This record gives sequence, C-alpha cells and structure tokens, in this order.
Amino acid sequence: MAGSPLTRRSFLIVTASGIVAACSGDATSAPPVTTASTTTAAPTTTTSTLPPGPAFASDPFRLGVASGDPASDSVVLWTRLATDPLAPEGGMSPESVTIGWQVGADETMSDIVASGEAVADPAFGHSIHVELEGLEPARTYWYRFFVGDWETEIARTRTTPADADLADRLVLGHVSCQRITQGYWTAFDDLATHDLDATVHCGDYIYERNGSGIRTLDIPEPTELAGYRAIYAGYKADPSLQAAHAVAPWIVTWDDHEVENNYQGDVAQNGSETPDRESFLARRAAAYQAWWENMPVRLAAPVGSSLPIHRGVDFGRLVSLSVLDTRQYRTDQACAANDVGPRCEGSDGPDFTVLGAEQETWLSDRLASSDAVYNVLQQQVVMQQWRLLPGDAAWNLDQWDGYPAARDRLFDDLRSPDVRNPVVLTGDVHSSWVGSLATDFDDENAAVIGTEFVGTSISSDGGLLEPIIPAVLDQNPHLEWAQATRRGWTRHEITPTEWRADFREVEDATVPGTTVDVATSWVIPDGGAVVRA
Ligand code: FE
Ligand code: CA
Repeated sequence: MAGSPLTRRSFLIVTASGIVAACSGDATSAPPVTTASTTTAAPTTTTSTLPPGPAFASDPFRLGVASGDPASDSVVLWTRLATDPLAPEGGMSPESVTIGWQVGADETMSDIVASGEAVADPAFGHSIHVELEGLEPARTYWYRFFVGDWETEIARTRTTPADADLADRLVLGHVSCQRITQGYWTAFDDLATHDLDATVHCGDYIYERNGSGIRTLDIPEPTELAGYRAIYAGYKADPSLQAAHAVAPWIVTWDDHEVENNYQGDVAQNGSETPDRESFLARRAAAYQAWWENMPVRLAAPVGSSLPIHRGVDFGRLVSLSVLDTRQYRTDQACAANDVGPRCEGSDGPDFTVLGAEQETWLSDRLASSDAVYNVLQQQVVMQQWRLLPGDAAWNLDQWDGYPAARDRLFDDLRSPDVRNPVVLTGDVHSSWVGSLATDFDDENAAVIGTEFVGTSISSDGGLLEPIIPAVLDQNPHLEWAQATRRGWTRHEITPTEWRADFREVEDATVPGTTVDVATSWVIPDGGAVVRA
C-alpha cells in the first residue's frame, strides 16, 4: 500500500471553494486537522495540471495510508510522509509539504466526490488528518493521496449507518498487541481479505522495546519524540499492516506500550529510564504526540502531557461503541513490585479509579442515553475476574482486578435494564478469553451482566500465560474458554438478534504466510449469555 509514481501526469486538482480546505502549515497554529466539505456533483470547476508538493526522488508514502473514526457523514483520512522510514525524521527535510487527496464513489476513482489538499507539517512528523464531511451513511468510499510525482494506491473506507437506522449486519475486526520482533503479521494479511465495517485496535500498536527477534527493529528504547516517531515508522512500513489499514476504517485506543510497559497514569514502571514524575510526563507527552501523529483519529493534536482519547462511535441503533482509556487516569498500584499480589489498601474505596472521574461520568451518561442493541466497550486490560490462586493472595493488579470498586461502579451502570447487551472487547494479555461479566464472579449462578471477548495478539508472545490457563478457568466459573499459544484476530459479525465472534488463529506467526483458521466461534443471543456456536 505504499505509493507509486503517478501514471497520469495531468492530475486534476479541484480548487472550487467548498471542496478544498487545507490546514495551515504554521507549526505554531491550531492542530492540523482539516475539515473539508464534500460535493456530490462531478468536479466541473477550475483545474490545474500540476500535483501539489515538491518532487521526491523516492516514494514518500512508505508508511501507507489509513482511515478512521467513522461517523454516518464523515471519516478521517490519514497519511504521514517518509521517504526512508528508518532514517532520522523518516528521511524528510524540515519543510511543510502540501498533499493532495481524493475520495471516490467507486474503486476506479472515476467519480470523485471530494478532493482537496492538506499540509504535512514537520512539527507533527509530516502527518495529515483530513476530516471529511457530507458523506452518505453506511456507504463504502475509496481514497488516495498524491504529492509531487507520487500517488498512493487506492484504499477503502466506510461510513457508519445513520443514527436512526437499525443495520441488518455489521462486521468488526478486533486486534491488539503487535510486537514486531516476535512474529509476522499474517493475521493482518488475513484481516485484509475481509469486508469489514471497521477494525478496532485495543492497544500495544507499538512496543517501546524492540531489537532482534523473529524480526529485527534496531531502534533503542525511546524517551523522546524522535525515537517514538522512528518506532512508528518501523512498524508502519510493514506491508501487512498497511494492507489491513487500507480495507476499512480503524478505531484505535492505546495501552501501555505506546509509552512504557505497565505505566499507571503519571507513574512510570519500576526500573524505568524516566523514574520521576517530571521526566515521565515529558516522556509521556512525546509518546502521546507520536501516537496522535500516526493514528487516523478524530482528535485535536496533543498539548502537553495529557491527551483525552475516550470517545464514542455509533453504528446507528445496532452498536454503540465507547472507546476507553484505562491507562492515562488510573490510580497507581503502589503495593506490588511485580503487578501480581494481594490487592492494595484502598482499592475497594471510591478514590481508586481506572477511568478517572471525568471519563467515568462521560461513560455513565453515554450508557444511560444509549438505545443501541449492543453496547460495546473497546478497552485495554482484562475486565473479568481472574482469581490466580485460591484465596485473595494473587490478583493481576494491572487489570480491573486491581480496582474492584471501580469495576463495581462500572457494573452498576452496565446492569441497568436500559443498557442492552454490554460487550467488552479487550487486548493486552496476548491470549484469547471468552467469559461473562457477572454480578458475583465467584457464584456460578450469579446474574450475567454482559460478555467479554479478549482477543489474542497479532504477534506478541503469549506463552507465559499458557501454563496458568487450566487453573484460571477452574477457579473462575464465569470464564468459558481460553488459549494463549496462537496469534490472530477476532471477527465479530453483529445482527439485531445475535452477536457472533470468530476467533481466527494463525498456524505459526514465527514464519511468514502460514494458514489462518477459525479456532472457535461464540454467540451472544440478544438478551442472553455467551454460548459456544
Ligand atoms: Fe501487549
Ligand atoms: Ca499491554
């Protein structure tokens, strides 16, 4: 999905007002999110014969393209220029570059419904975020970018159904955890062959520590912006990842490794290179900015070390998706050296939080006002109880198990009869888990509140968990199934009467191009508990 030389030299650039709205190239100005109106008429306005931007001696689209955060009338288009992904600043000189973009009604791009220009600013890593407007609901569109003598391949995106529409069927991809040094991204090759309404990413899009493994990415652990940018470039240069971005819009949240393993709010992990609060927040600011630059998100550019990313994406009345951030605002778990141990003092009280007060209130209000058939939480760490040993001596304190009162507050919202079919989509643990969310996790007969699907990793190793799976399944009656040996992704097919999850597993992600099969399928009937299909 990287670019190629332009084949048609007389490229039409529509310059009518109302069609083109490019952002300012001034690095000190507002965030480079452009808002572009669209036109349904064929372009009949003035044209130029020259594409925008300077001449590049080599392909500046080596990081591919993406779309994201779909709405019923809009989607965000993304690209970031880099002629040499692993060179300093991606091989780009520190000047702004004007990028052209086009949106087509079909895959031939013969009917252009919107087009314009956006400025790739070196202050934001030569990334652009183009926010389209005026699109039709529940419709597939195609898009491409061009600059100088280069253009990208044509990629596909899709708007969501209109607010009042109850769609017959939606298909979502569900992915997480793609440590590049631990495997090939065969799961993304497979995902790219599917017709998806959207792909949701639950975090660990990059890892801060790389080096040599199944594959090599020789970039030292970063603490500053240039280093994080380089890691994103190293990951995004992969053709499998680019292919997966090119077939559907992505809805992305982050987990810990976009900054540093198991960080908690403003607190670094034990043994961090940035151990004190001040140096950690400076590092977090760099990491958050690099994430924003590289993701197709409908969010203003970060200012300082905070970046609110929780947001809602609604697919008409069938699915209301809430994208959560369980990292940035959580209370530190200061009581255990290695994340596993007895719960911390105070963790059963009102001051211990996973989401932070503002996000918690936002989610509560959003759930209370939802009329969707399925209410989905896209988030990072496991929400189900995992009693690791009999008694209360061993919990994974990085998961919701470390925050029992915060989980109870969330469950109070989810168990309301007005909130239909809660479904939680999770990543983080490099293994697949299916289970129910229950009012009492230790009582087999307790009322079921909803379902959690934990998706396995795209490539990150899950072997550490394999030996504990039998005991965890045994000690936690609400858990139905788990596996940790295989990498893959989860395909969710949703209709007004049933949610179906297919766990697609890669035979062996340590070698390229092995087969991908459905290992198991699970179904949630409307109003019921999850069962094996
Ligand atoms: Fe991970
Ligand atoms: Ca993680």
